[in-house]
Amino acid sequence: MRPLAEARAEVLSAMPRLGSGPVDAGSSVGRVTALPALAREHVPPFDNSAMDGFAVIAADVAQAPRTLKVIEDVAAGSVPVSTVVPGTAVRIMTGAPMPSGADAVVRVEDTEAVGRDEVTIAVSVEEQHNVRPRGGDMSPGDVIVDSGIKLTARHAAGLASAGIVPVVSDMPAVAVISTGDEVVPYTTRDLAPGTIRDSNRVLLRAVLAELGVPIIDLGIVGDDPVELRSVYQDAASRADLVISTGGVSMGDYDYVKQVLGDLGSVEFWKVAMQPGKPFAFGSINGVPLFGLPGNPVSSFVSFEQFVRPAILHMMGATNLLRTQIAGTMGEDVVTSPDRTVFLRVMLAQDADGTFVAVKSGGQGSNMLSSLASADAFAAVPVGVGSLSAGDDVTLEMFRWPEGRRGDE
Ligand code: AMP
Ligand code: MG
Repeated sequence: MRPLAEARAEVLSAMPRLGSGPVDAGSSVGRVTALPALAREHVPPFDNSAMDGFAVIAADVAQAPRTLKVIEDVAAGSVPVSTVVPGTAVRIMTGAPMPSGADAVVRVEDTEAVGRDEVTIAVSVEEQHNVRPRGGDMSPGDVIVDSGIKLTARHAAGLASAGIVPVVSDMPAVAVISTGDEVVPYTTRDLAPGTIRDSNRVLLRAVLAELGVPIIDLGIVGDDPVELRSVYQDAASRADLVISTGGVSMGDYDYVKQVLGDLGSVEFWKVAMQPGKPFAFGSINGVPLFGLPGNPVSSFVSFEQFVRPAILHMMGATNLLRTQIAGTMGEDVVTSPDRTVFLRVMLAQDADGTFVAVKSGGQGSNMLSSLASADAFAAVPVGVGSLSAGDDVTLEMFRWPEGRRGDE
């Protein structure tokens, strides 16, 4: 059996990289920067006020209270024309440019109007108090977002403030195929004897949608070598990456192996992980192909451990793996010591804030109810074999606990 990390490294090194191009910052969320995004201008572009108040010379109000003559009003969006000299102030709004001569702003709460043209400044202030200097946030040449970063809404705002159109990697189009004579569309009304609903393709489409990649759904293919051959060929001609489920284990009707072997270079791996051991990986005409196990949870674990990182790598991302955190097991568990075992767990936080994991239900590789209610995989590494309640465990997070309240 191949160690998981080694198998993943091999998969990643075989992924082709895609092209890149500019994209509107407002629609860039989920895309990965292909180049570092550098500021070309100062942000803010000019010294401006952080408060509604009065622009003054700090030294002029050192002996507050002091009454000053108000020589101008300046709103955000307009440009002051006067110069503040000792004995004078400019009434200024948040975001308005600082008038020349002034070096601080006293907020309106610390002042009192005297008639229409004068103001009493009640407090003394340091130079630059309530002034947002030009370039205080960003300066030309600053890296706003490095390359290889999957953009969030917060990045988009940072890019927009510097007028940057990000250059992002292209998204791979991903083809999805379910195989198996017993597999029927999940919307089938009455299941014929011996048939099961196709959950794999729904799961794959949903996780791919989360990644934001274009999906080519090629439906369900029976255990028929001729049909399989034509669907895989079609997939490889249209997609940048192909995922199928089923047909890769030791069964009599597992034709996927044979067909893929004929069409391209495909290897059948036994990876030291559970669930998800049998797994086909290779390419057809240079298009990478993943043959995932048919069992739904095996298929999901293989997706998480190989396909998701592979797609992110193709998209140019630097961070390929889910966030891992240290937690503790909340119950005793026994696992196969020869594999990394991924337990579906629910998390609670103890008084110290430590995440405590308990199994979210049955751990059979066909059991989706426990996957649906899980927050994370507890990864029990090769060589461990058992954990007791209170032992440390690594948690691969796919949902943070607040998600259980329904707002994930
Ligand atoms: P296989 O890898 O084809 O031997 O399938 C292993 C198990 O996964 C069998 O119980 C199949 O019925 C089940 N299975 C295969 N494909 C799917 C699918 N698309 N959705 C749900 N279960 C599946
Ligand atoms: Mg099958």
